[in-house]
Amino acid sequence: MSTFHLIRKLWPFIRKYQRSLALALVLTMIGAVLAQVTPLVMEYSVNTVQGLLDKPVDRRQIIRIVGTLVAVLLGKEILSLGLTLWRSFLSDGIRFRLSGDLYNYTIGRIVSYHLTFFALSQNQTGKLEKRIDKGIESITKTIKNMFVDILPMLANAGLALALMYRKNVWVGAVATVLLPLYAYISRAQTLRQKSIRRNIQHVREEKTNALFGLLESIFVVKSFVREGYETNRQQVLNGSLVTNEITHHRTNYLFDGLKGIAEQVGIMAVFTLTIYFVLNHQMTVGAILLHIMLFNNVSAPVRHLHRIYDEYTEALTYSEGFFEMIETDGYLPKVGGVTSDSLHGDFTFEGVDFIYPNGKQALTNASFTVQRGRTTALVGLSGAGKSSAMNLLAGFYEPTRGRVLLDGRDLREYDADWVRENVGLVMQKNHIFAGTVEENIRYGWLDAKPEDVIAAAKKASLHEQILQMPHGYETQARELSGGQQQRIAIARLFLKNPPIIFFDEPTASLDAITTEQIKESIDAVKHNRTVLIISHNISQIMDADSIYVMSEGAIVAHGTHESLYLGGGLYRDIIDSNARTLNIGRLAATVLSSSRPEAVPA
Ligand code: ADP
Repeated sequence: MSTFHLIRKLWPFIRKYQRSLALALVLTMIGAVLAQVTPLVMEYSVNTVQGLLDKPVDRRQIIRIVGTLVAVLLGKEILSLGLTLWRSFLSDGIRFRLSGDLYNYTIGRIVSYHLTFFALSQNQTGKLEKRIDKGIESITKTIKNMFVDILPMLANAGLALALMYRKNVWVGAVATVLLPLYAYISRAQTLRQKSIRRNIQHVREEKTNALFGLLESIFVVKSFVREGYETNRQQVLNGSLVTNEITHHRTNYLFDGLKGIAEQVGIMAVFTLTIYFVLNHQMTVGAILLHIMLFNNVSAPVRHLHRIYDEYTEALTYSEGFFEMIETDGYLPKVGGVTSDSLHGDFTFEGVDFIYPNGKQALTNASFTVQRGRTTALVGLSGAGKSSAMNLLAGFYEPTRGRVLLDGRDLREYDADWVRENVGLVMQKNHIFAGTVEENIRYGWLDAKPEDVIAAAKKASLHEQILQMPHGYETQARELSGGQQQRIAIARLFLKNPPIIFFDEPTASLDAITTEQIKESIDAVKHNRTVLIISHNISQIMDADSIYVMSEGAIVAHGTHESLYLGGGLYRDIIDSNARTLNIGRLAATVLSSSRPEAVPA
């Protein structure tokens, strides 16, 4: 990305600060003019003093000269300080406001993106966060560089150089020759440091990840007695970091030294050339001081060149990724799609293929229907594509081929938000936010009254258990057990009260008694809704009115429990395995015998 591109892309965000920006530029120019005052005053003073040396000078005259000098220089410094502060306040204000604006815009845009965006490898949690933070940080840093460093420096150096040329073309030319040399050394420094810094950053990230991983898996580390192995890994990473850091600093010292020499050579050249002109009676003695000070105004900004250049190239790189992220319209939800007051809730999958962004084909020519008022189940081994099918029904992803219809109309034609308002999802592991039980249930309907929250908790068989906790509904939800958290998710669903409900293995990680309670909660919510359930729990499958068996992304059988079982194949294998796992023969004998005590032989 070029500077021009960056500014063009930033313009919509910067536009509202254009008055402050214009003012900052004016202040910059005034600052540059003021910076030349000291050298000129010095020249004038030296020449005046030299003129006075031949005749006797009285004390009052000395006091007047020195007083004027101090007043002018001090006044200029105070004015300069005021201007610098004003310009810094202005540019900082723009920078931080712009950073806030960019952040709000980015978050607003990204949360509305389609899930496909989040499935891309460069957008996984952690990476996406970094993309946003680094992007905004680099862009705002560039704005700061531009107004606090680059422009004032360039203006200052440009004016000083112009003054030198005005005084004498040769002196100006000597000062100019130094600039490309300086720029060359700075560029070499940046290039050399770039790879070292990249290494440092890479090793730092690896070190942090390794440390996180170590702390996260400390239980496993200890149980396998791998403390020594882990410590060694950390030491290797740390060693690499130390080596890189040392190289980084040494390189800096070396290049800073080179730049120091270049600057001294410049000063010497300007100094000797001016002395030559003074001795030739072409210049006054004051010119020596003037030229040295002007040369300082030219070379001082150049000293920061490598840092600015460095930050700037980095900013351009990050900005590219940043704008690519916030400008991809393809992930935006369809606006102005169809909504309907008379949603029925019948879904149809028509020859659907679905391929994830990473290229994995999860569904192949899948066709099935999910009807309102009936419970439909998807059954199959892990990885068969059941959850993927459900994600397509909920509108989280779009089919690669084929269509998903809701009440006979392509799901893509509907307003995405409206569809999701009408769909409730309960998964195997539901996200519980940091916050109280009450807040977590209320997420289903943000305007719910406390009594609505309680009613939902009662329907999800959760209310009694909440009351037994010391803080009741104010208990931190993440402190609850897995089963209780699952019921929070179901209560959330009751509160949302959607006409379409999808369950994705809602009881997979729960004990038998909780599973039974949750099954009751689910049964209570089923009535007259569209219900799709994915489950490995036979009782939940058997109860379904319509069962689809999936294998490797395709629908391989369809029917009721009885018809599918009689038909044999995968469904029968799954049910038989379930029965064997449960040791159903022995289970049936014990359960039956204990419920008919008279049958037990004495
Ligand atoms: P099931 O729910 O039947 O266990 P899934 O629908 O979760 O199966 O997965 C079907 C296939 O798609 C699997 O091979 C799985 O690895 C793959 N898959 C699931 N989610 C993703 C994803 N987010 N990105 C890429 N591949 C995925």
